[in-house]
Amino acid sequence: MSKPIHNQSTSPRQEQTPQSGENTAQQIGESVDLHSSEAFVAMLDTLELLPYRNVNASVSAVQPALAIAEELGDEALMIRTKLIQADIMARQGKVAEAGRIIRQSNEWAERNGHKHILARSHRLLAGFFRRLGDNESALQHAIISMQQLPDHALLSLRADHLMMIGLTLDEVGAYEDSIKHFNEVLEIATITDDVQLALFALNNMAYSRCEEGKGEEAYRLACELRDIAKRNHVELNASHLDTIAVIELLLGHPEKAEATLAPLVNDPLSRRLGDLSVLPECLLTTAEAQRLQGNLKQAQKTLNEARHMCREQGLSGLMVRVRLQQSEMYAATGDYRRAYEEHKLYHQENEAKRSAEREARARILQITFDAEEARRDSEYFKEMAQRDPLTGLHNRRFMDPYLDELLSQSLISGQPVTAVLIDLDHFKEINDTFSHQVGDTVLVHLAKIMSLTAPSSSALARIGGEEFLAVFKDTDAEQGMLYANRLCQAIRSADWSSITGKMSVTASLGVSTTDGTRITRTELLSIADHNLYEAKRGGRNRVVGCKSVS
Ligand code: GH3
Ligand code: MG
Ligand code: MG
Repeated sequence: MSKPIHNQSTSPRQEQTPQSGENTAQQIGESVDLHSSEAFVAMLDTLELLPYRNVNASVSAVQPALAIAEELGDEALMIRTKLIQADIMARQGKVAEAGRIIRQSNEWAERNGHKHILARSHRLLAGFFRRLGDNESALQHAIISMQQLPDHALLSLRADHLMMIGLTLDEVGAYEDSIKHFNEVLEIATITDDVQLALFALNNMAYSRCEEGKGEEAYRLACELRDIAKRNHVELNASHLDTIAVIELLLGHPEKAEATLAPLVNDPLSRRLGDLSVLPECLLTTAEAQRLQGNLKQAQKTLNEARHMCREQGLSGLMVRVRLQQSEMYAATGDYRRAYEEHKLYHQENEAKRSAEREARARILQITFDAEEARRDSEYFKEMAQRDPLTGLHNRRFMDPYLDELLSQSLISGQPVTAVLIDLDHFKEINDTFSHQVGDTVLVHLAKIMSLTAPSSSALARIGGEEFLAVFKDTDAEQGMLYANRLCQAIRSADWSSITGKMSVTASLGVSTTDGTRITRTELLSIADHNLYEAKRGGRNRVVGCKSVS
């Protein structure tokens, strides 16, 4: 196998299993009464483990949680929620900011003797140091995090902490101990009937065995991974498939390795929905499998694509692996001079990467332990709280006070304000035909269209699942209708084919404009909502305002 590079963010043993946990996020969004402490704590128990499973799903769930924690006015709950946010930030690459929050929470827990937060903050500190490549510190924190875990802790939480110890033990080369911990996780997964967790534990075990060079043992685990997925009708993700393929290569079956990754590498849909950072790894493994079968032309093509993706995504760590593969490729074609040149470049780049990593590590540590930077956190949180994490547009929390302010100014200045409600047509059908994830992609794309079409002075927000609001200041009804029609037209005629194939995407829009009298936000929006309803009733894919109908 080939794992010459120490690259946390692109190693197949990632700390996350993408594409699971969406339901949990939805449940959190829809939970009824979270404003009682017990219900909120129960929700936090779930949310705490979500970033690990599906970082994207947890992003949208953590925002409302922060607001509720604040409302409840319970400091410990606030800190628990902020720790979840820090976990997300770390996974999104904001390691220094995350580290600072985790450290502060850890200090708070020490001062107040709060065992749960103490355990969680040590668990996250372990992740923090692991990301920085300081595996000894990571292991220390992982062990403390286990010791601090209260006896009555949930099994799923215990599994999370055990997994971290397993990962850090593996990282320091203590494979036997690491496997023991992964096995315990597997036992918990079996007891709790948690298929994703089982897959995750097996994937890590298989990878550990592979690193040890124990091909047969790794292969047995890979087979188990496949069996469990099949039995439970769960699809293996890119990271699982890559592990299996790497093991097949190790056992000298390049044809099997290529076949394992083929569905992912050759299918544009799974490519688009898969974890982007794992795909170049899969391409590299495929290129190696093709080369080893003597299919040099195809191997070079695959390698070129891997190189292209690494450049596009700035995966400099993986670029080093690309060079190594390229060198092997030249050697396979008998071009030893170029193989040698490429190999030299590989060493140079590897060294450059290591020194860049060392510098980054020093910088992150310095920022993490620098209290001055804390101020920036609160600005970051404020901004985050006013944005919709999926589309990047503003959310209701921003829009409500903004519109209130605009309306009171409008009363003084006499300048009109126009509000437009936008609701996607038959969006449920898109979700049902494709998937929730494709639905999300549509929402993201719609937000882009809105940003490109609306004048720069407008305020744009996602205010519900597939409902958006555009607010245009100094805009009368006629001009507002013009903007709305332009937007409706832009949505209708955008190229959606790469997302929804032949299925068209349209929206209905309801417009309302101030008339110079005192009008509240609720009144303005309810007129827009009424017009939106009329647009739906009139056949959708249209604008209804006070004047003309498109
Ligand atoms: P209509 O033309 O009448 O608006 O039909 P519709 O299907 O768009 O409307 P409906 O209100 O029946 O369904 C809206 C759907 O939007 C249901 C829900 O599953 C989906 N939805 C809500 N939020 C999200 C989200 O964040 N992501 C995705 N993918 N779907 C969402
Ligand atoms: Mg709707
Ligand atoms: Mg709709």
